[in-house]
Parts: sequence; C-alpha cells; structure tokens
Amino acid sequence: MSAVPGVQAAYVGRFAPSPTGPLHAGSLVAALASWLDARAWNHGHGGRWLVRIEDLDRPRCVAGAAALMLQQLQDCSLVADEPPLFQSQRNAVYEAALQRLLAAGRVYPCACSRKQIESVLARAGHARSRHGELVYPGTCRHGLHGTTVRAWRFLVPQVAPASSAATTASSVVEWHDRRLGPQHQDVGAAVGDFVLRRADGQFSYQLAVVVDDAAQAVSHVVRGEDLADNTARQLLLQRALGLPTPQYLHTPLVLGTNGEKLSKQNGATALDTRDPLAVLNAAANTLGLPVQASSVADALAAWVGAWRHLYNPR
Ligand code: GLU
Repeated sequence: MSAVPGVQAAYVGRFAPSPTGPLHAGSLVAALASWLDARAWNHGHGGRWLVRIEDLDRPRCVAGAAALMLQQLQDCSLVADEPPLFQSQRNAVYEAALQRLLAAGRVYPCACSRKQIESVLARAGHARSRHGELVYPGTCRHGLHGTTVRAWRFLVPQVAPASSAATTASSVVEWHDRRLGPQHQDVGAAVGDFVLRRADGQFSYQLAVVVDDAAQAVSHVVRGEDLADNTARQLLLQRALGLPTPQYLHTPLVLGTNGEKLSKQNGATALDTRDPLAVLNAAANTLGLPVQASSVADALAAWVGAWRHLYNPR
C-alpha cells in the first residue's frame, strides 16, 4: 500500500514526534491517523508518509527516545517511506529562513524578559495568559527596549481586520480543518509577535515546523488537536516566507486521568507494542474506526478503507 515506485506522489504526510519519551496511547493516535491518511490517498493507492524527529528542544529530549519511538512504530507496521529527518541537524536551514524574514523586515530583536512582559501587561490591565504563555505586548516592535537581545520575534501583521487590506495583511487568520471545519484566530490578539529564535540560538517549534513541512513538500498535516492552536501562526509564517500551506486535519485527543490531554504528567505510559493489534485498536477507536480482530496488516487495510469514507484526502 505504499506509493507506486517511480511515481511522484502529490501527497506527502508526516508524523513529527518530539522525542521526550516513548510513544504513548496519545501519540500513536496521531501516528496512525497520519499514516492512514497517506495510505488512503488516491483511492487507497497511497501517498508518501514521513517521520520527522522534532528534537530541537534539547533539554526536553530524552536520550534513546527517538530510536525507541521508531521501533514502536515499526512494531505497529507504521514504517516511513524515507529515513527520518532530525531537526537537531537543521539549524543552518532555520537560520537561513530567519535571515530571509529579517531582510524582509518581518523579524525584530526583543530585549524583554518574562517579568518585564508581565509587568507591561499588568500595567495595561490585561495580564493575559494563554496556555501559560504571555501575549507579547509589542514593546520592542519599534526598537529594542534594553541592551541585551533575548529573542527574535515575528512581526504579526498589524492591519485591522476590518480594513480593506485585511485579506493580505490581517493578523486574523482563517483556515479550514478537515475534521474541525472552519477555524480562525486573531494571532495579534491571541499570541502577539511570537518568538522565532532565542538568544541562545534555540529556534522555535513554529519556525522549524514551517520550514521543514515545506522542505519535505508536506501536502497534508495530520496531528493531535492540541496543536490546532499553532496553525494560524504557521500559516502567517508560510505566507511571510512564500511557502505553500498544506491541508490540516487535527485528530481527537486521548485524555489522561485528569481529563486533560494524555501526557507523561497525567498517566501516559509507554506503549507496549508487543501486542501491536491491541494498541492499534485502541488508537483506531479514538479515531472512530471499528475494532479489528484480524492481523495487523488486515486491520490497517480495513482502516484505510474506513478512513477514506470519514476523511477522504484530496
Ligand atoms: N513535535 C510536535 C509534538 O510532538 C508535533 C508537531 C507537529 O505535528 O506539527 O507535539
């Protein structure tokens, strides 16, 4: 069911885990969904499916986790069509993208500490915090307020949504999710000018994911719903860099014991892939696919068919 050899598939999908630990029930849902979507493409003839290891945030990465994840995927017969790409090896590519944005005036240096941002927001009467992140108030947008550069930020378009130029330069981003339907976010209000690189050289997830999705010619992004909120920022970056926008589908999440997205903090345990059909059935169930009692190969083939009826990729 992989892509026809020699034929350049118009579909490229990817699973892009951060190696912060082994795969758990939640990450397998995203992996299975993106694999099924790729294989369901072109009436089941299949597109390409890639794995990208998002190991940029070194302190959060766990030694050996990437190899373990790849082994777990293989145990579940989810095998990528190319060797994995490791983000930790791609700093030069991210730097080149940052330089292009700098040259275009879309990035500026920022000297604000978290404390300074908090106090500016408090003085303005809106200590807005979103997922623990502060909405950047734009302090350094027109010049560095301080002596030490702490980060480089993306200049979110400032044009008011109601103005005539709204379609080209609004901070309001609209997009369509294949499962969630029409989405929109005012990035200026919800996030503000966001960080692309910290002074210590650490590139942000937003920049790396946009650069890599384009570099790998990803046409369809299928990932967990917890990431849906990043999409508007990623669309703004794609536009600023002149890169194409993939189609997006955000999958249902597996919830932990506290009702929040399953993570290591709330009960996620490493997937036991010695019984791949059992773990795949659990993931398929989260995706609304029927339980399969046959072999892994037959189960995957049945789910590809069922997936096409739910979310036919085009
Ligand atoms: N590396 C991200 C994560 O594991 C996923 C990135 C993406 O799929 O865009 O949460």
